[in-house]
Amino acid sequence: MSDQYRNFIAGRWVNTGTQGTLTNINPADTREMVGVFPAGGAEEVGEAVAAAKDEYPKWRLVPAPRRADIIKRAGELLVQHKEELARLMTREMGKIIVETRGDVQEGIDTAWYASGEGRRLFGDTVPCELPDKFGMSARMPVGVCGMITPWNFPMAIPTWKIFPALVCGNTVVFKPASDTPATAVKLVEILLEAGVPPKAINLVCGSGGKAGDAIVDHPDVAVVSFTGSSEVGRKIAARGGEHLKRVSLELGGKNAQIVMDDADLELALEGALWGAFGTTGQRCTATSRLILQDGIHDKFVNALIDRARKLRVGNGLDSGIEMGPCINKAQRETVKSYVDIGINEDRATLALGGHELTQGDYALGWFFEPTIFIDVKSGMRIAQEEIFGPVLSVIRVKDFDEAVRVMNNTMYGLSSSIYTRDVNMAFRAMRDIEAGITYINGPTIGAEVQLPFGGVKATGNGHREASHTVLDTFTEWKSIYVDFSGKLQRAQIDT
Ligand code: NAD
Repeated sequence: MSDQYRNFIAGRWVNTGTQGTLTNINPADTREMVGVFPAGGAEEVGEAVAAAKDEYPKWRLVPAPRRADIIKRAGELLVQHKEELARLMTREMGKIIVETRGDVQEGIDTAWYASGEGRRLFGDTVPCELPDKFGMSARMPVGVCGMITPWNFPMAIPTWKIFPALVCGNTVVFKPASDTPATAVKLVEILLEAGVPPKAINLVCGSGGKAGDAIVDHPDVAVVSFTGSSEVGRKIAARGGEHLKRVSLELGGKNAQIVMDDADLELALEGALWGAFGTTGQRCTATSRLILQDGIHDKFVNALIDRARKLRVGNGLDSGIEMGPCINKAQRETVKSYVDIGINEDRATLALGGHELTQGDYALGWFFEPTIFIDVKSGMRIAQEEIFGPVLSVIRVKDFDEAVRVMNNTMYGLSSSIYTRDVNMAFRAMRDIEAGITYINGPTIGAEVQLPFGGVKATGNGHREASHTVLDTFTEWKSIYVDFSGKLQRAQIDT
């Protein structure tokens, strides 16, 4: 069954777009068209921004706890619709149902966390150096926020941005990835049902080049919050810079898990399998490098290959399936091209997989085998470039120092992990690994919303989502001085 979805612009659902239509295909069964969407461009973005700008002066004056109550209500609606949302998301994005339930759950967690901020939004009160004078700082909303999101977390990532932005008093124009607009439509429906004023939330589906660029270039968009590839992030930062607008970037990763000789190997094995092949390796935090200490290398690799070979690949709605398809044909071709690079250019050893799955029901979707390369050297392309698929590169190291050097030898710096029972080594890793996130005895995936999310180096530009740190993206600090002396007091002069 295929649905006709619509954009939501200036308080109205509209089913035509100046850029034609987009089709949303189930990557596990390409016979199924999940939906048809109007594709917007500069015109739709212009209308959406104008509406958001018009609503902003009203919404910013709604008390923050009241705005937060609406987001809490959105969380309750997500709870109520969790299963149907997860099933829709698996159909449009392909990841297994357990994971799409997790994706919705992350949206729910974000609703609880962000709505709590409505009664905090802490500023400082500080003593003033002059008598009869009071000093404080307060968070102010920024204005219209443009949210541009990727397809791998169709619910969680938009909620990370939209929920706190609304609680802070901003209005929103949201452009989801072209591959996952259905979940976005559902999220906007929920926000409206929860009570967000219609013009405070606008949805413009469309391509990055048309709708995305129009958001970045629009002079009335005060903040662009972008999650996606480093390549696109660079362009957005440059364009945003021309307008001096705030741009928050959450970009790519080349995350690694280290396993030291003293580690709990079974635990580390489970972590590596989940980190590398969960979400078909299509997480920004996916484990795409596995750094193994010499003493356990061979034993670990054998066990890993044995377990990865048995992973059940298939339609994420079927029970027992552990890994779904790649998101689309182009992504599967990228994965295959990196396998070819690994074999022919890098000359690493292909130890498992390496092929598209095309027999039987697999022929219906964009499936790829769980793939493992061994004898990988840290400078090889498969150890440097983000593949975004079920491909794991194993690198052998002799000791902890080399493991950390290899870990850090990448332009990215998102997630990292080390398995060890040595507390000293664990603390050195926490200190010395160049990444926004470090897990001790856990896989590289599994962030929780109450801690900052983001990375260093080419993974971003210093902003953090989730936690209270996201408030720095969606608010401006205002410093306020109240002089109740009744006379002119000159700071730094009248001491
Ligand atoms: P992408 O960069 O191709 O697209 C992301 C979004 O940007 C989409 O909505 C797309 O339509 C839009 N876009 C594309 N070109 C644009 C342009 N010129 N101007 C404005 N918008 C444009 O990324 P993707 O393929 O959707 O997602 C995968 C990437 O996202 C990976 O690199 C992954 O690591 C990254 N990612 C990062 C995080 C994080 O938090 N660090 C989380 C998830 C995904």
